[in-house]
Order: sequence, then C-alpha cells, then structure tokens
Amino acid sequence: MTLMQLESFAAGQWVAPSGKVRKIYSAVTGEEIAEAGSDKLDFQQMIDFAKQKGGPALRKMTFHDRARMLKALATYLNERRDPLYELSYKTGGTLADHKIDIDGGIGTVFVYASKGRREMPDAHIYPDGDLEILSRNGTFLGQHYCTPLLGVAVHINAFNFPVWGMLEKLAPTLLAGVPAIVKPATSTSYVTEACVKMIVESGILPEGAIQLVMGGTGDLLDRLDCQDVVSFTGSAATASYLKSNKNIQKNGVRFIAEQDSLNASVLGPDVTPETPEFDLFVKEVLREMTAKAGQKCTAIRRMIVPDAQVQNVIDALSAKLAKNVIGDPTAEGTRMGALASLDQKKDVLEKAAEIGTECDLVFGDQDNLQLNGEGLENGAFVAPMLFHCKDPDKATIVHSTEAFGPVATVMGYRDLGHAIELMNKGGGSLVASVITHDADVAREMTMGAAAWHGRLYFNNRDSMKESTGHGSPLPHMVHGGPGRAGGGEELGGVRGVTHYMQRTAVQGSPDLLTGIGGTYVKGARFKEGPAHPFTRTFHELEIGETIQTKSRTVTLEDIEHFAHFTGDTFYAHMDEEAAEANPFFPGRVAHGYLLLSFAAGLFVQPDPGPVLANTGLNSLSFQKPVSPGDEVRVTLTVKRKTKRTDEYGEVRWHVNMFNQDDEQVAEYELLTMVAFERT
Ligand code: NDP
Repeated sequence: MTLMQLESFAAGQWVAPSGKVRKIYSAVTGEEIAEAGSDKLDFQQMIDFAKQKGGPALRKMTFHDRARMLKALATYLNERRDPLYELSYKTGGTLADHKIDIDGGIGTVFVYASKGRREMPDAHIYPDGDLEILSRNGTFLGQHYCTPLLGVAVHINAFNFPVWGMLEKLAPTLLAGVPAIVKPATSTSYVTEACVKMIVESGILPEGAIQLVMGGTGDLLDRLDCQDVVSFTGSAATASYLKSNKNIQKNGVRFIAEQDSLNASVLGPDVTPETPEFDLFVKEVLREMTAKAGQKCTAIRRMIVPDAQVQNVIDALSAKLAKNVIGDPTAEGTRMGALASLDQKKDVLEKAAEIGTECDLVFGDQDNLQLNGEGLENGAFVAPMLFHCKDPDKATIVHSTEAFGPVATVMGYRDLGHAIELMNKGGGSLVASVITHDADVAREMTMGAAAWHGRLYFNNRDSMKESTGHGSPLPHMVHGGPGRAGGGEELGGVRGVTHYMQRTAVQGSPDLLTGIGGTYVKGARFKEGPAHPFTRTFHELEIGETIQTKSRTVTLEDIEHFAHFTGDTFYAHMDEEAAEANPFFPGRVAHGYLLLSFAAGLFVQPDPGPVLANTGLNSLSFQKPVSPGDEVRVTLTVKRKTKRTDEYGEVRWHVNMFNQDDEQVAEYELLTMVAFERT
C-alpha cells in the first residue's frame, strides 16, 4: 500500500513532507498509512501571507459577507462527507463517531453562518453592549466596539476530532475576519488534510484565509505578537508548555486553552430505578463511555450517585456494557471501535491501572477482549472499564487522572452537599451533568458547582427526548471550563467570534459614533432626505435620514374612543379621581398604545411603496404621561440597515415622540422590511 504523503498548505502552496517525517498508523490494523513532516516550512512566510493576503481580504467583507461565505463552505463540505467518513475509519471510529466529528463540524459552521447574519450587523465593526451616556446633555458618549485582530489565529487541535476540532475554531475565526493557520494532531491529521484540501479546492475562502501545518510547529509560536491568537485543544501538559513560551508571555499573545477534564455526572437524590431518570442516567453514561471509544474531552469520567444507588448503577451499566460489540468499525454489528493510536491505548491502560490502585474494577477485561472482525491484533482496542471508588473522599487519583478512553468510575454520595464537593474535586471541568426532576436540587447544584464547570447539563423525563447529550458542545453554548479544563472559552455563539477581535472602548460625540459604527446614535445630526422615507428604497435610505412630523392634539374624546374601541378601560384612562390618586399620573392620561397608533398615523406615507411590512418594535419606553389637550409629534430616523434577501432588507428606525414642551414622552425602535426596488 502506498503511504499517504500528507501535505502542508503554506503561502498558497501544497508542501510535501520532508526532513524528519513522522509515521502515522491505522488505529484498526496497526499498519503504516501515512507520513507527515513540516521541516521545510517557512513559518514567518506563513504569518506574513496570512497578514498580507488573508486578513485584508477577510476584513474587506462585512460580517454578513463572511457569514454567507461560511454557509457556502458548510454546504460544499456537506455534499462531500462520504470520502471523509471513509478515511476516518482508519482513526478507529465507527460511522456514528465520524458523524459526531464531520457532521458536527459542518453543523457548527452552519450555525455560525446563521448567527453571523441574524445577530451581527451587515458591517465591519461589531458593537458590544449598549451605548453608554457619559455626559449630562448626551454630547459625549461611549460604546464598546469589536474589530478583527490584525494578525493570525494559530489553531492547535487534538487528535480526537480531526474535522470538528478544526471547524469549531475556524468558523468563529473567519466570521471575525481573521485568517487561520491550522495545526492538527499528527495521529489523525490525514482526515484534516483531506478536509482542508476540499476547502481550498472549493475556492470559497479568500487566498490566505487558511493554511495548514502537517507536523511540528517549529518556531511559529516564537514569531507571534499581540494581534495573534493561539487556540489550543489537547493535554494540560502541552498547554502549560506552550503557554510558557517566552514570546507568548512577552507579547501577551492570547492563548485559549481547552484541555483535560474530569467530567462528572450526578444522579439526583430524587432518582430511583423506578423513575425514568434512572434509565436516562445509564443511557447517557453508556453513550459517553463508548462514543468515540470515550475519546471526547466532554466524556463522563466520574459518576456521582446516591449511596443507595451505587450497586443498582453498577449492575445496570455492566449489563449494557456487556452487550457493547467492540471491533472493526466497518464490520456489521460493531458499536465501539478502536482508540486513535497505539500510544493512546498505552496511555489509557496506564491511566486505568493508576485508577485501579484506589478503585475496584467492577466491569472490563482487557486480557480477554473479544473483537468483532479480522486482522485486528495490532489495533488500538481497549475494553470499556467500569471502576467503583469506595472512598471518594480519600481518593485522589480518580479526581485527577483522565484516562482518555472508555473508562469511568462510580462513587457514592451521602447528601447533596457531599455530591457537590465530589463534583468540584475534579479541579474545574468542561461539563457536569445532573439527572434530576427536582428544581430545588438543580438550583442547589448550580449555586454550589457552576463556578467549577464550564457547562451544566440538566436532564430529566421532560427534556430527555429533545436533549442534546451530556457530551455535545453546541456552537450556541460556551465550551471550555475553569482550572484544569484550561480556563479558556470557545463557541458560545457570537462570544466565540469576539475571542478573535479586540474590544475597544470608544468615546466621542454622537455624530462620530454614528460614523464609526454605521448605526444611528441618538443625538447625532439629522439628515434631511429628498422625499418621505417611506417612498425611498432600501439603498436610497441613508443612516440618520429623518422626518419630523407635524403635531396633533390628544383629546379626551380620543382617549374615550380608544378605550371603548379596544376594551382597555383601565382606570388611569377613564377615572379622573382614581388616576389622580396614582403617583404616576396627574389625572386621566392617554393610553401608551394610543400614542403608538398616533405616532404611526403621523409618520406613515400611505401609498404603496418600498416599505413592505412592519415586523416589530424594540425597546419601547414611555417617559412622560400625555394628558388630554397635550400635543404630540414624532421624529423618525433611519437607524440601521441590514440586507435580508436579494430583494429587500430590514430597516430599523429610531422613533421619538415629544410633547408641546419638547419633552420626550416615548421612544422605541421600529423594524420594517424595505424593498430594493420600487414596484
Ligand atoms: P497533546 O497535548 O500532546 O497534543 C495536542 C496538540 O498539541 C496536537 O496537535 C499536538 O501535535 C500539539 N503539540 C504537542 N506538542 C506540541 C509542541 N511542543 N508544540 C506545538 N504543538 C504541540 O495531546 P494529544 O492529542 O496527544 O492527547 C494526549 C492527551 O491529552 C490525551 O490522552 C488526553 O488525556 C488529553 N486530551 C484532552 C482533550 C480535551 O479536550 N480534554 C483532547 C485531546 C486530548 P502532535 O500531534 O503533532 O504532537
């Protein structure tokens, strides 16, 4: 069999391995399948290429342009999953495992594509949080803005997810507008290489947006500065070694680490074998022990169960594990494949042996492992191992040693406080789950344990059909955890994008902030348009374009009419004496909804035109009551424009209503869809 020669992609060229090459073996048969090596790479040239080509090209695009690019990329990869599955069998995984990696990775890109368009502006700068009023008259304001870092993101990935591991970092990085250099773990890097080849062939990303290192990183980290980010997943030892790189320290290079984690799953005190939560717990643990042969950073390593349920859990899990068919991942009937390499097998068996010095092995027999399939003698297969820790208070190894395979330990707890103590003994984790149907338990667990865990996953009979699984990091939710989990944070929706951006506190006048952010800021100068804004198309409308309406008087008849017409005869509008007794009102006042209706009556232009629909209203507040005899007028200002389709876009309007004394009585944001063309 010819060996795959794994190529790096540097400065626009594919570079074959050379110099000291590393051999890569099939996890299933142990045969040599590939070679990788990066001795020839010029890392400074790669950094320069990213900064000079990839960065500027990405930054020219808006968030929406980049989100559309991600969608095209995800669609492209989605149509090419089969060759990636085929290659992935050599990593030891089953088809179900590949789907977690490949489909999960592509799904993450789709989510970022959608979030980019829905939650970020069609602009180059991302406003973070609300405007801060820093002056009495509103002439000096503050706003936090995020702009893309002007460097490169170096992604150092773990062996267990050659595709998801890359794409979950790449999607937020590219959406931020930052190019990436991807360095996969060598043992499964052939799958990553195949995926990057597809990405490059697609031509969807601009030149320099992605480069690939197949092998060591040489002096790459010594060349980074504060505009660069290192995003790492792997062991705590490597994270600590890389983090202590002198250049990383000196230049304050951002280092995001996602590393070892002794994830726990707690069986609530309310759960017994008779409740649906018991089977749910066993199912979740079984899945976490066997999916990807336990090689998931989020897999359950410690089961914390009420003392009275320890034996029940051991019996139920052992019965399920006994039915778990292990072997060739391509063979029919196989439920669990091999670990990713013989090194991993050695490591897992060593770590399990360490755990065995203080816990009893209650299920699992590596010496008599029955394998499904032929020619598997040299494969990296490991039997699932279930341990029981009798004294979890005294034990230390079980709370600190991560056997990165199908290995988990059951331990008993006395009461909720004890369960929380044991959960937190992992020293910081990526995820902890609690299976309970009791909201008080969930609350106490959250108060006692959330600070130690990046994600808390509660599940019970109500949510089990739709729940996403203890071990699945979702692009919407934060992935990462404190302490030994690395202290980093990835994903979490738009939060994950801002890890590749600089948040800057920008202070200035409303006009300047409007110019910077491309969104109208209250207090900025109005622009007069050539015609009523409702007659102007999406592209014709300008940010800041305003109409100021004439006034109308609000009469007692209007209030009476509105009250009887709608049925809203609340006393503040109908009963002078009762209204006067209310500290908010001088007497009978106009309904807030009447004022909104009058506002529309004042600012609309009624003829058919580019404005297609009113789709909502945000941040409505009433500042001052309006009494019979008061006059109201409105200003309507184009606040923000966002393309939605090829035919129309969303226009957000800033609406202010004033009374005859120029006091603001109401304020809100109006959402409309406006066509690109006049019909
Ligand atoms: P490592 O920490 O050894 O490797 C992780 C990544 O770092 C790989 O891409 C690796 O590349 C790279 N790397 C290693 N040394 C250097 C270096 N000196 N300079 C630059 N890059 C480097 O983890 P492994 O993937 O080998 O897994 C080892 C253990 O880590 C597992 O058994 C498990 O316990 C834990 N782990 C935890 C994960 C989690 O998310 N919680 C995920 C994966 C692993 P290369 O492969 O080329 O050495």
